[in-house]
Amino acid sequence: MPQLAAIADDFTGATDLATMLVTRGFRTVVTVGVPEGGSGDAVAGADAVVVALKSRTAPTARAVADSVAALRALRAAGCERFYFKYCSTFDSTPRGNIGPVADALLDELGAPGTVVVPAFPATGRTVYRARLFVHDDLLDESPMRDHPLTPMRDSHLGRLLAPQTVRPVHQVRHETVRAGADAVRAALDEPRARGALTVVDATTDDDLRAIAAATAGMPLVTGAAGLALGLTGPRGGQGSARARSAGRGPGAILSGSASAATRAQVGHARGLLPSRAVDPEALRAGLDGAVAGLVAFVTDCWRADPTRPPLVYAAAEETAVPGSAGHADGAGTARLVETALARCATALVAAGARHLLVAGGETSGAVVTALGARALRIGAPLAPGVAWAHTEATVDGAARPVDLALKSGNFGGTDMFTTAWGALS
Ligand code: ADP
Repeated sequence: MPQLAAIADDFTGATDLATMLVTRGFRTVVTVGVPEGGSGDAVAGADAVVVALKSRTAPTARAVADSVAALRALRAAGCERFYFKYCSTFDSTPRGNIGPVADALLDELGAPGTVVVPAFPATGRTVYRARLFVHDDLLDESPMRDHPLTPMRDSHLGRLLAPQTVRPVHQVRHETVRAGADAVRAALDEPRARGALTVVDATTDDDLRAIAAATAGMPLVTGAAGLALGLTGPRGGQGSARARSAGRGPGAILSGSASAATRAQVGHARGLLPSRAVDPEALRAGLDGAVAGLVAFVTDCWRADPTRPPLVYAAAEETAVPGSAGHADGAGTARLVETALARCATALVAAGARHLLVAGGETSGAVVTALGARALRIGAPLAPGVAWAHTEATVDGAARPVDLALKSGNFGGTDMFTTAWGALS
């Protein structure tokens, strides 16, 4: 029975937390959406389960309903400790969804209050005097200021949270955190903190460890993946909590991301691996034929050398990607590219692929959905927030084992596309 259950508000956020939990000694499963039937096979043998929802920018009522449904399913599976995972840049609007989901989960658990800990110093997110920094900038001076869906125009977590919650918002200052876990516990025990959402300062990993120790008895904590640094799972050190891989078989890279880091990864891999660009014009002219051509390219490469994973990519350094804002059909083309890569994924798994590295958050979502993957057992880490994950795909009605590495756009070093394969056991 999982001893820790997390509810994540987006897909790559779920894998980010799950990767951290594996390094902390939890055998970890990510479920795509609410696990069916309460317990079920999906979470069997796991020490931690992370439910990946799409609740970050969903209508608030939907986000609350999905989160509560996840909590109920996890409680039915026997879980007693919960972790609501959101982004370390606190992505939300005055309506939510962080505050309303935290309130609903607390109400469901019958718990009065909890902590709010978005700090993740390893990725430059620190909280001091309740203000959230992104590296050297306050949140509202970082690029998050102009995020298309969740523009962050304030850096004070108390002010951001107040319109989102029915609870009072309280604060534990950095001096208290520095004084250690007992001091934090005492501060959280004060009457004005007990029924509140309490923003806790943290600027270092040691701060996060102190907060994690102080909150070990709380039924619910909330934060980014950094807070999990302070947790220790039953398998202790790294490695032992990893899942097995899908075994020998060919692999491929499907890159649908247009982010700067991915374009550099594509540039590096193009010099070393067989590669083929996705041509949006060709997709528009005939999706079936274009997808068949990409799949034939990969399978021909496998025949020539099954040890080298071919790369299919939608954007390289030189590719001009139409932004949906400036181009009438930008969003349409983006979805078409996602569909094409998802169809490539199912065709390649049907053709025997055992390993797929997928670049792009939306692209990853499309691929996982197309493959019918319900649960991912987190395996070898590749980079902070990215790991191979073992799953069972359902293609043409048949179950097939496959390893997926799902990488959101800006994650990973330049050589990730070529080095990732060495991590498979
Ligand atoms: P990231 O994690 O880098 O944001 P996503 O997969 O979430 O990556 O988003 C990238 C989007 O850009 C996807 O919808 C993808 O289909 C689209 N895209 C990538 N390359 C192109 C291209 N050449 N033309 C149009 N859209 C593209």
